[in-house]
Amino acid sequence: MRRPLVSTLLAAIAIAGISTAAFSTAAWAHPGHGGGLTSGFAHPFTGLDHLLAMIAVGLWASQLGRPAMWTLPVVFPAMMALGAALGTGGVVLPWIEAGILVSVVVLGAAVALQVQAPLAIGAVLVAAFAVLHGYVHGAELPSDGSAWLYGIGFVAATLILHAIGLAAGIVTQRPLLMRTAGGAIAATGLVLFVLHA
Ligand SMILES: [Zn+2]
Repeated sequence: MRRPLVSTLLAAIAIAGISTAAFSTAAWAHPGHGGGLTSGFAHPFTGLDHLLAMIAVGLWASQLGRPAMWTLPVVFPAMMALGAALGTGGVVLPWIEAGILVSVVVLGAAVALQVQAPLAIGAVLVAAFAVLHGYVHGAELPSDGSAWLYGIGFVAATLILHAIGLAAGIVTQRPLLMRTAGGAIAATGLVLFVLHA
């Protein structure tokens, strides 16, 4: 991708994020939905909380460089799947949804501030947030085969969002743009958190 295109993409994500956060409380809601590959794949793209956190993981990974660059985008989906398994049949407590919004703020801030965390710290942080992102869906899914399809679609979408963030970070190589994108993500997370509270 050409740099102007990436700049436009990042700006569009930021604007879409903030405006959606401001006008829609459904952006972070996790309504009951049936299983299935398509709905699983669609959800991270339609749920602003997942979308922004997942893009932020990719952006942050690109800032941290190797080996975090390849580790974080693997840790997140893996731990998210574990979280979904833990959540099956469970109850979504209010703090779990709040924790997901905190993940948007923290990951966005990490990008904005270019936090150079050691690999272990970054991985543990991302893993903890990923468990929440998975748990919230494990709890609501039906315990039949469609749950597996939903999970596969969900993980595939997550990997794409990580890749978008990672690619945007690698291609732009513009720290200011990255900081702005991170700041926009963190700000959106904060708005969602306030709306949620
Ligand atoms: Zn969700």
